[in-house]
Amino acid sequence: MDLNKLYLTENECFKSGKIMVPKGIMVHSTGANNPNLRRYVGPNDGKLGVNTYGNHWNQARPDGRQVCVHAFIGKLADGTVATYQTLPWDYVGWHSGGTANNTHIGFEICEDGLDDKDYFGAVYKEAVKLCVYLCRKLYLNAEDIIDHSEGHKLGIAGNHADVGHWFKRHGKSMDDFRADVLDALEPVKLYRVQVGAFKDRRNAEQLLTELKVYGFKDAFIRNE
Ligand SMILES: [Zn+2]
Repeated sequence: MDLNKLYLTENECFKSGKIMVPKGIMVHSTGANNPNLRRYVGPNDGKLGVNTYGNHWNQARPDGRQVCVHAFIGKLADGTVATYQTLPWDYVGWHSGGTANNTHIGFEICEDGLDDKDYFGAVYKEAVKLCVYLCRKLYLNAEDIIDHSEGHKLGIAGNHADVGHWFKRHGKSMDDFRADVLDALEPVKLYRVQVGAFKDRRNAEQLLTELKVYGFKDAFIRNE
């Protein structure tokens, strides 16, 4: 993951500075054909490129709307995909049009024309990595991740179709997404080798001591 930080400090949402305890993550996509991060994140930090229209979200009401998210995923000026954190993770964001704002971190994936497989693959991977990072950091689970449309079905977000309308064009669903996050979160599976079995616990402890002397510091006794 290419995680950068540029807080949208001029946005009314940032200025209101309301704090929450994140209970989940809501995945959004922008609904406009513009994969460039500079459309939403600014001013230019040297990597984003210049937004010549000055319509990025680092202003009080972007496009006249009270709207703000915790992060964007999209293209840098050099065409590579990156993530920009735009609000502290524990700030209330204005992304759901519902009560999910008080419980969910919201991030936007910048849409393109929706048909570019390479771009979709890159932003999907980046979004999985962002969610893995957030789950580890905030003790969340893969099942705590929903998209905007699922939030609407749960009654905690406004009626939007993102991100299913885009994901399904590339054979993905939110269930696939959660499964991919879960796969990445699961600890590495280990193959263990047993070196003894005793009726008397003292013998097991004796062997454990010897193994540790030989350098097997993670050796342990299991009672079955
Ligand atoms: Zn949305």
